[in-house]
Amino acid sequence: MTRAPDARAGLGGELLVHGLAQLVDPRGRTSDPLTIIEDAFVWIRDGEVAATGPMADLPAEAALLLGDGKDPRAFDGSGCVALPGLVDSHTHAVFGAGRAHEFERRLAGATYQEIAAAGGGILFSVRDLRSRSMDDLIEISRPRIAEFARFGVTTVEVKSGYGLTVEDELKTLRAIRRLSDEDDLPRLVPTFLGAHAIPEEYADDRESYVRLVIDEMLPAVVEEDLARFCDVFCEQGAFTLAEAERILERAGELGLGLKIHAEEFTPLGGAELAARLKAASADHLVAIDDRGITSLAASATVATLLPGTSLFLKLGRHAPGRALADAGATLAVATDFNPGSSMSQNLPLMVPLACLNLGLTIAEAVRGVTLGGALAIGRPELGVLAAGSPGDVAVFDTPDVRNLAYHYGVPRAVLVARDGRPLWKAKRRSSRTDTALLS
Ligand SMILES: [Zn+2]
Repeated sequence: MTRAPDARAGLGGELLVHGLAQLVDPRGRTSDPLTIIEDAFVWIRDGEVAATGPMADLPAEAALLLGDGKDPRAFDGSGCVALPGLVDSHTHAVFGAGRAHEFERRLAGATYQEIAAAGGGILFSVRDLRSRSMDDLIEISRPRIAEFARFGVTTVEVKSGYGLTVEDELKTLRAIRRLSDEDDLPRLVPTFLGAHAIPEEYADDRESYVRLVIDEMLPAVVEEDLARFCDVFCEQGAFTLAEAERILERAGELGLGLKIHAEEFTPLGGAELAARLKAASADHLVAIDDRGITSLAASATVATLLPGTSLFLKLGRHAPGRALADAGATLAVATDFNPGSSMSQNLPLMVPLACLNLGLTIAEAVRGVTLGGALAIGRPELGVLAAGSPGDVAVFDTPDVRNLAYHYGVPRAVLVARDGRPLWKAKRRSSRTDTALLS
């Protein structure tokens, strides 16, 4: 075992981050300004936020932690910004081998669809995952999931969908459950995505595969309580709108929350279906039309934007984030971390991409990786940094939240805590000297 379960014992879930340049609370609607407190503290006790506010209001009990400046529970946040721990609400983070060989072929001109049609893509990852034991899958996934914390992420939604047999889907979800028991990793939220692709052995009999998902996989997943959500890849070459509806309706009857990969390449009506079924989120939306935008805006379904995927696939087009925000849709921004179409756990990098390519404001994009992501997984309390909220905090080594977009790709998480206990702490702070110029 590589984990050290006692490494954080003794910290007791208590943490005081003091002297912060900014504390950012993203509560509010999509396009509201962020609430920012300057010269601020966040005090977490028993794993929960006990108080936040300006340093002038620091409770006496919290001030005791300042002491001689050596208490490991106190962190000097000067020159830094604190946000609620980031929530990555769309990933496929449990898989076997990477696919750098396909990336290289794409750079040479092959398209994602051409590679998939030749047996690569998702089906490569399916063959690979089927060949591995659950323990192997856990070992190979653990460092990939730990990596999220270095970017400020404390909660990660993880989908199955590279198994595509009853046993291999259960194996994947059991691996996710085992990893979610490890409290030195980000919190994991499991999603069943048996309807990710039609596996090769069902290529000529897709109806039998849809029935397998509905009649065997879903009941088995629910029986073991292995997933919080069910997702479907609704797309040409994957699952039709009618198939997606059948699968999601059954999942809803069984008590699962609903998600859908909708209008990534083709407008099939998945966004309207999501709104009608009261899904938690509709994700991708690159090809969404006006009717889809209108129905998402009129619903509580979160529109999840994945700007890294458009970049990585060289799509040359982007989800209409600006139009969705203007229509009043609730937005999340996520990585879509997966070996084929977005190989990055860097959720903060999605903030400038969402601003530059999708037209979001900085506030909208920052809200999208915090509160929006939390809403997309049905855990709104994870998107709040105020007394009573979970003790998840991400501290970035930059004095102004706008730099998360402006100083793109650079501001670094220096302290990331889940339930008041550090998941990641940078060994050294930035030596940059431009703090005054940036603030
Ligand atoms: Zn996806």
